[in-house]
Amino acid sequence: MNPWNLARRIVAVGRVAETAPSQPVAEHAGAVFGGSVQVRHVDAGSCNGCEIEVGAAFNPVYDTERYGARLVASPRHADVVLVTGVVTHNMAEPLRRTVEATPRPRLVLAVGDCAHDCGVFRGAFGVRGSVADVVDVDLVVPGCPPEPAVIVEALRRVTGR
Ligand code: SF4
Repeated sequence: MNPWNLARRIVAVGRVAETAPSQPVAEHAGAVFGGSVQVRHVDAGSCNGCEIEVGAAFNPVYDTERYGARLVASPRHADVVLVTGVVTHNMAEPLRRTVEATPRPRLVLAVGDCAHDCGVFRGAFGVRGSVADVVDVDLVVPGCPPEPAVIVEALRRVTGR
């Protein structure tokens, strides 16, 4: 596309991101992390529903990055481990190692009902347990799946922005 046409279209469309809600209280270490957190996402055994919503939380509409939360590829670069899904037998040890590889101070977010209490997969043969059965959890985001706005709200409670 011609850059001038692109610029005209940007001006015509204007801002499309969701309006920012009022600033939440920084319950979880906003001061410690200085308003900016790097997030490592771990799918410990999800149906992929929560992944779609987490992806949406970081898309240009919900745009979590404007509140200081950013996805990173390595736990070595992260402040927060965001876990979705039940923890399967195969993922219990990788999850434990991922959290252990994340420098302190760090937080663990359990996102979705499966991560919280195994949800609809409770008792299934491949399930080790909820996230809290494997690692310490600091914040739970309920829902099956949680809406992107709820995930954004939780991350804003961490960044304090
Ligand atoms: S909470 Fe719901 S959407 Fe998320 S992994 Fe479990 S079943 Fe899937």
